[in-house]
Amino acid sequence: TLPARPTPISSGDFDTSHPIEVRKYLRTYGLTPPSVEGFEAQTQRCLALLELKKTPIEKYQYLTSLRATNVDLFYRLLAGNIKEITPLIYTPTVGEACQRWSEIYTQPEGLYLSFSDKGKLASVIQNWPRNVEITVITDGSRILGLGDLGINGMGIPVGKLALYTACAGIRPDATLPLMLDLGTGNKALREDPLYLGSRREKVTPDEEREFLDELMAALTERWPGIVIQYEDFKNPFPSLERYRDTYTMFNDDIQGTGAVILAGFINAVKTSGIPAKDQRAVFLGAGSAGVGVAKQIVQFFINEGLTEDQARRCFWLVDSKGLVTNDRGDRLAEHKVYFSRDDNDGKQLTNLLDIVNDVKPTILMGLSTIGGAFDAQILTRMAELNDHPIVFPLSNPSSKSECTFEEAVKYTNGRALFASGSPFPSLEFEGKTLTPGQGNNMYVFPGIGLGAILSKAVNVTQDMIYASAEALSTALNEQEVAAGWLYPDIRRIREVSVIVTRGVIRAAQLNEVDRELALRHMGDEELDEYIRERMYDPFNEKKIVEEEIEGLMSHLSN
Ligand code: NAP
Ligand code: MN
Repeated sequence: TLPARPTPISSGDFDTSHPIEVRKYLRTYGLTPPSVEGFEAQTQRCLALLELKKTPIEKYQYLTSLRATNVDLFYRLLAGNIKEITPLIYTPTVGEACQRWSEIYTQPEGLYLSFSDKGKLASVIQNWPRNVEITVITDGSRILGLGDLGINGMGIPVGKLALYTACAGIRPDATLPLMLDLGTGNKALREDPLYLGSRREKVTPDEEREFLDELMAALTERWPGIVIQYEDFKNPFPSLERYRDTYTMFNDDIQGTGAVILAGFINAVKTSGIPAKDQRAVFLGAGSAGVGVAKQIVQFFINEGLTEDQARRCFWLVDSKGLVTNDRGDRLAEHKVYFSRDDNDGKQLTNLLDIVNDVKPTILMGLSTIGGAFDAQILTRMAELNDHPIVFPLSNPSSKSECTFEEAVKYTNGRALFASGSPFPSLEFEGKTLTPGQGNNMYVFPGIGLGAILSKAVNVTQDMIYASAEALSTALNEQEVAAGWLYPDIRRIREVSVIVTRGVIRAAQLNEVDRELALRHMGDEELDEYIRERMYDPFNEKKIVEEEIEGLMSHLSN
């Protein structure tokens, strides 16, 4: 007979797939229904239960409780149905969940640090019971496009970390959702009797910086090597500038987004057959997203052999006042100056169609928040100018997308190389199924995180971010390439994440920020195998218990 398992009973111990001997070992024999189920039957039941729930928020709640009661089953369900379930645990449903967090809160799922804990953050962090490899941090100040939701934004770190686990196999017990309770500018929340955060105004930027300084030091002190991902901060730039060179940190809103768009873009440029030097990109929208994306693409064009100046001059940025030029007569915001044109011969073009006619772009990018801005005339003109116009309407949500996939297909006769920020359905065109690309960050951030963890990187460098994009662009299989896709099938995300992770690790090595030096001597295949072996696999967790039992048995019989 076996001794009692050293760990206390945990929820997953009641998994109905555990064989009899495992149940006896776990001391759960008799505490679950007698039948030993296969994974398939379990998953079917979960899907049926999910079907019973009428609204997305009820489905979200069911999935939350499933994750709390049987984490392996939750991830098995997710693995087989990633496309269908992701919208229920992340956008768009998580947005509604955050808006209603005060109302639907049932159980803790992460760590909360309040401004009043300042000076004692290390001791609060000490209360977290497990080892942590990665944390997602927010202060709730800009949750998706929904504004300041205070600590109700906790759904974002929780959901995002679930995707780290589902997509890149980061162990669920090594993730830490972290909410900074620094007050909220949302008066309705402060006055809501059910609100669970501090009812104070948002702290000042100076107070926030002091708090974050202490936090970063305390997290790294307790868990050396921890990867820290910032998310949904109203102003994401100061923390990124301040910590990117001193901690293993990145900001997914800026860096992950830039990388995923770049990956689709690299494939669009390859497919178009037009070399980088002949590409001309019109950007509708010159905000932080537009300029950020344009700068990532500059780096790609440089890698394709252009000088920085040549690369910079492939871009025409358009904002609410029209084409961004030096002689427009207004003081340009600092971030627009780099791309501002000096070759407009005094012309002040404001209308997008005029600009398209003048510039004759090969590429049309939308980061303007103006739904429908790529209208029939503009798309038709793009199709006249190009065999394969690159059209990326990236504004979110779908109502703000500069055009729909259907419009892009219709007005370019199915020739557009298309990726959007929000999802659009596939459609039939002249007997062929056309599938739109979606620049979904979940293609890259899981691999950035895992790459940083496995290489034990001291920083997340810009080259590592760039490498995640380049690796993603190579991750399509033959059928996906043949079908003209710009991104791989999201259902292959675990395989894709291995490739992204490898790219990130290689870049960490080139930058010499890696501390796991043994990985440097591995070839790519060996490294891929190393990555796969370290990924949490919810289908194999049972085996781990079984191995534990085998080990004990052989120990006892010796
Ligand atoms: P933002 O800072 O508000 O920038 C919007 C830009 O659009 C500004 O340059 C603005 O001009 C310009 N604009 C506004 N109205 C216009 C008009 N009628 N004609 C031409 N330009 C106009 O917003 P952001 O943070 O950069 O984000 C922009 C969009 O990108 C959002 O919808 C966001 O959802 C989307 N986005 C998507 C992804 C993704 O695909 N994963 C990632 C990030 C962002 P002024 O500068 O003159 O005000
Ligand atoms: Mn975000």
